[in-house]
Amino acid sequence: MPAPKKKPATKETAKSPASKIADKLARLGLRSDIDKVLHLPLRYEDETQILTVDEAGRAFGRAVQVEGVVTACEVAFRPRRQLVVTIADDTGPLTMRFLNFYGSQVKQLAEGNRVRARGEVRHGFFGAEMVHPSYKMVNAGAPLPIGLTPVYPAGEGLSQTILRKAVVDAMARVDWRDTLPESLRAAHDLMPFEPAVRLLHNPPPDIDESALADRSHAAWVRMKFDELLAQQLSMKRAQEARRAKGAAVLDKAGKLSKAFLRQLPFKLTAAQQRVLAEIRHDLAQAFPMQRLLQGDVGSGKTVVAALAAAQAIDSGYQAVLMAPTEILADQHFRKIAGWMEPLGVNVAWLTGSLKAKEKREAKERIEAGVAQLIIGTHAVIQDDVQIPKLGLAIVDEQHRFGVGQRLTLRNKGVGDGTIIGNSTVPHQLMMSATPIPRTLAMTYYADLEVSVIDELPPGRTPIVTRVIDQNRRDEVIERVHAAALEGRQAYWVCPLIEESEALQLQTATDTHAALSAALPGLRVGLVHGRMKPQEKQETMDAFARGEVHVLVATTVIEVGVDVPNASLMVIEHAERFGLSQLHQLRGRVGRGSAASVCLLLYQSPLGPVAKERLRIMRESTDGFEIARKDLELRGPGEFLGARQSGQAMLRFADLETDQWLVERARDAAQLLLRDDPATVDAHLARWLGAREEYLKV
Ligand code: ADP
Ligand code: MG
Repeated sequence: MPAPKKKPATKETAKSPASKIADKLARLGLRSDIDKVLHLPLRYEDETQILTVDEAGRAFGRAVQVEGVVTACEVAFRPRRQLVVTIADDTGPLTMRFLNFYGSQVKQLAEGNRVRARGEVRHGFFGAEMVHPSYKMVNAGAPLPIGLTPVYPAGEGLSQTILRKAVVDAMARVDWRDTLPESLRAAHDLMPFEPAVRLLHNPPPDIDESALADRSHAAWVRMKFDELLAQQLSMKRAQEARRAKGAAVLDKAGKLSKAFLRQLPFKLTAAQQRVLAEIRHDLAQAFPMQRLLQGDVGSGKTVVAALAAAQAIDSGYQAVLMAPTEILADQHFRKIAGWMEPLGVNVAWLTGSLKAKEKREAKERIEAGVAQLIIGTHAVIQDDVQIPKLGLAIVDEQHRFGVGQRLTLRNKGVGDGTIIGNSTVPHQLMMSATPIPRTLAMTYYADLEVSVIDELPPGRTPIVTRVIDQNRRDEVIERVHAAALEGRQAYWVCPLIEESEALQLQTATDTHAALSAALPGLRVGLVHGRMKPQEKQETMDAFARGEVHVLVATTVIEVGVDVPNASLMVIEHAERFGLSQLHQLRGRVGRGSAASVCLLLYQSPLGPVAKERLRIMRESTDGFEIARKDLELRGPGEFLGARQSGQAMLRFADLETDQWLVERARDAAQLLLRDDPATVDAHLARWLGAREEYLKV
């Protein structure tokens, strides 16, 4: 017998108002009681006092509260449709105007009703008025709040009243137990949890308002500490989980590695040998490496990366090398393929700009496991390429990748099966010339091992840097001419115009035309970000082969480009660039044995900070020192997007101002993980709950 047909559902059950509110709260991430209790105020309003209308009229430029009885309420056209309400107390009348209003408000504000309104008073055509005040209806003698009124971060369709009620209800139900043991609180002089939270939701009348506003109050400190501690704990846990996952054991620095070293035209520096040993050791472990290779511009990171890749290939695995720009990826491809292909290594090239057919061909080779080394841009992780035997992923100039790409790489991307077909996680090697600021090293990058190349290859003649007024441009062009006659090559970097990319391109094109005209007989090339990759490559090739004498460029050449015969670098409007950027640009020369010169042209007059920056550039060639000075002058927020990525995880703490707390939280996390796993669990459950995934990055 056939089963009776089920009646199809004809309509969705209408949602109750309560569940609609719950949905909206959930959109703000407020699901459980503890979520709501930890939804702390953004700021506070002082509603503890009522001024007379007369006094309010004299309180210039600040929000005040008045109370009065409605004497008139009408929808007027002045000239726009608006609700005009007049209230009065013993001292006189005050007009309230609402440009957007509901019908219900007209009823609510009927004549004779009593209103408490808060806003700024200004003197309009019709006398003292408040435009769009916040207000509530009250009875005569209604008590005033005794403390400041919290203002919560709100979402669409959620009023402060609803949020406040949700928080108050949650506070009545939540488990208030302190997750931190007494001893830990005493050690760091921390307020207990419950009083801290209650104080922030309902500050007492005598509170230090400025400490509340700048979040230096002990109650805020407790919240920030808790948050940072949760972050440190979850990161350490994620690190353990990663270790537990397992990785391919790449322990054969065999035939390829040896042949590669033998045919290198130079000997590795002691520093390169040391970091290589560190990397080799990690690769031979059965859990994934997470290592950052830091080394100043020109210190020779590429060859170390190639040797790491050789070890993966020797061990029977595939390796990937990703670079942030086409130019750089292309250069790596040529250089490394030039080293490796003669040794029988199958190298694939993958970028976004490949033709469909070429891409298909490359993908086939990669997915069949034939390609042993894959070099490209982030196309490698974007185009869901399967790399069946991926053992090692190398990321060059890692700080140049976007925040999202970095998260994909670090958090899951390379390891979650989207690009590998086996169950292990690849080893990761990240490379950068920019040192990481200390707070970021302790938070966002806390689970990285760091290797540093602190020595430049021998035979480099130091770069001489000169700072020159822009109006001596003609002399500079003459120098370029002279250098070219001696068979040397020059870069000419066009000014950075942050406001307009179009203008920047225009300037580059103009400079190219001007230099071509001023230097007849020399070949002047041009590269900029908007050129087709093909054209860019042709020009770069011609420059690398020495056929182009002067290369006019926007900052596309900033990272990594390596043409040893280029020995003159001209940077126009150097005062517009950041120090680290100038150092990167300058690092394009000084790569061969010829004495190199960097000319920084500036537009006078220079401000004091710009002067200081150019002075540092003239006096130092040490990238770490320069980066440190840069941080002093500009703050870590400038660390290329790292602030967003590091800060995104934190709601209350601020990586710049709360560095001291970061250090304490880190120390506390270490102790708790060693001695007190129950506290770790309780603390993570309270602070992360559903957000844990997010915090793992
Ligand atoms: P970066 O660390 O800035 O990425 P590169 O890897 O591009 O530096 O190296 C800069 C230049 O130095 C390249 O031309 C490279 O071939 C060369 N080089 C690297 N190591 C050595 C070495 N040990 N001796 C001599 N030259 C080296
Ligand atoms: Mg490099």
